[in-house]
Amino acid sequence: MSEYRGLVLHIQDGTEDGSEAWFKNPDSQASAHFLNPKSGGLRQLVDTDDKAWTEAAGNAYWISVENEGRGGDALTPSQIENCAQLLAWIHQTYGAPLQLTDDPNGRGLGWHGMGGAAWGGHYDCPGQAVLAQRGQILARAQQINNPTNVQEDDMPSAQEVAAAVWSYGLADPDTPGRAVAAGDIQAYADHRHNVLYGQLAGLSAAVKTLAGLVGQGIDTAAVVTAVEQAIAAAVVNVHVDVTGTNPTASKGN
Ligand SMILES: [Zn+2]
Repeated sequence: MSEYRGLVLHIQDGTEDGSEAWFKNPDSQASAHFLNPKSGGLRQLVDTDDKAWTEAAGNAYWISVENEGRGGDALTPSQIENCAQLLAWIHQTYGAPLQLTDDPNGRGLGWHGMGGAAWGGHYDCPGQAVLAQRGQILARAQQINNPTNVQEDDMPSAQEVAAAVWSYGLADPDTPGRAVAAGDIQAYADHRHNVLYGQLAGLSAAVKTLAGLVGQGIDTAAVVTAVEQAIAAAVVNVHVDVTGTNPTASKGN
């Protein structure tokens, strides 16, 4: 190899076994750095120090991967993952940028047909279906290359969760804009638990009161009053400590 511009995608237009046999036959004058089966990991046929016989005038500049499949096939999820891992490795090892390219003199993730006649005139390799998947390969390679950003982009931090919880149900009118701690999540859960406990206690008391009134011939207004009093007597007042320590609950009245 005289330069490392990136990775070139191919389609075998055949099976993994058939391609391997063909590439291992010196008379074929064909090879590739890597084979990418529909399932399973990459297999390497040519050291990346050496050029493979893959894309003619591009051989000395590009690492090549032959994906198992027929022309027009899309890559399997496993093949996309393998290509992304390989692209990330090429980036980390040789400094090829994580970007798409359609230029044989460019750098990044390319494809066989972009080299035109100088690359053997394989304009349909790897085919439109695979070309449409290049964005997925690139995005995954970028994730692999920078897992810290993956976490920041895809997973909310404890701080973000706490802030969302706070804005949803734990708004504190006394200290607007207070910084939210991760411990607020537990505080909020305890708070909701205590509210529910209070509601259940009130309903339970109401049912008991109603049951006690059955058959006593009392008027509707008096029933309503009795039930309201029972609920008021049973409801739990909840105090959440907004300084971040555990909430405390105290019985009302
Ligand atoms: Zn090709």
